[in-house]
This record gives sequence, structure tokens and C-alpha cells, in this order.
Amino acid sequence: MPTLLRRSPSALFVAAVLALAPFGCSKAPTVAAAAMCPEHQVEEKYCTICHPEIKNDPKVLLCKEHGDIPEAICTACHPELKSKYATCPHELPPAFCALCAKK
Ligand SMILES: [Zn+2]
Ligand SMILES: [Zn+2]
Ligand SMILES: [Zn+2]
Repeated sequence: MPTLLRRSPSALFVAAVLALAPFGCSKAPTVAAAAMCPEHQVEEKYCTICHPEIKNDPKVLLCKEHGDIPEAICTACHPELKSKYATCPHELPPAFCALCAKK
């Protein structure tokens, strides 16, 4: 009588379990927030300091009154933007304020 014990290989079973287990449980947050310029505290696409070429874009309206900054970040003309951007005592994003820059 053969006494050879033949264990059924469990490796297959383990492999199946691993294949079913989800990899990468940590999800990266994918919040669709507008990219901000960390240095100048405005939306990157309106940061004329980092991207002077924005001023040549005909789609971007510039505020002549407040130092040729994009209207989209001119908190002086658009007070509703103050909830979005920090402002200096002159009602402008500090990095874009000519008066603040002068001191
Ligand atoms: Zn910038
Ligand atoms: Zn303005
Ligand atoms: Zn200012």
C-alpha cells in the first residue's frame, strides 16, 4: 500500500486570494481645485508674475486701473473675489499691489 502522502498544493489557492485582494488601498485625493501659485496666492493661470505671457493672451482681460493685473484676480474691482484670495490694505492680492511693492 503506498503511504506517500500527497498534499494538494495550496499555492494555487493563495495566489487566487492575492489576485482578488485589492492593491493600493490608499486613494489619492482627486479634488478638482484650481491650481494656485503658492508664491503669489492667486490662481496659477492668472499669475502674471510667474507667467508674464498671460498679459499677451487676448482672452485675459487686464485691469488697467490696478497695475495691469488680470481682472480675474483684481479683488479691488471684484470684491467677491476676496473670499478666494488674500488681499492687502489696498484691496489687492499683495503680490500684485503696486503700492505694496513700492515700500
Ligand atoms: Zn506666481
Ligand atoms: Zn481693478
Ligand atoms: Zn497693497
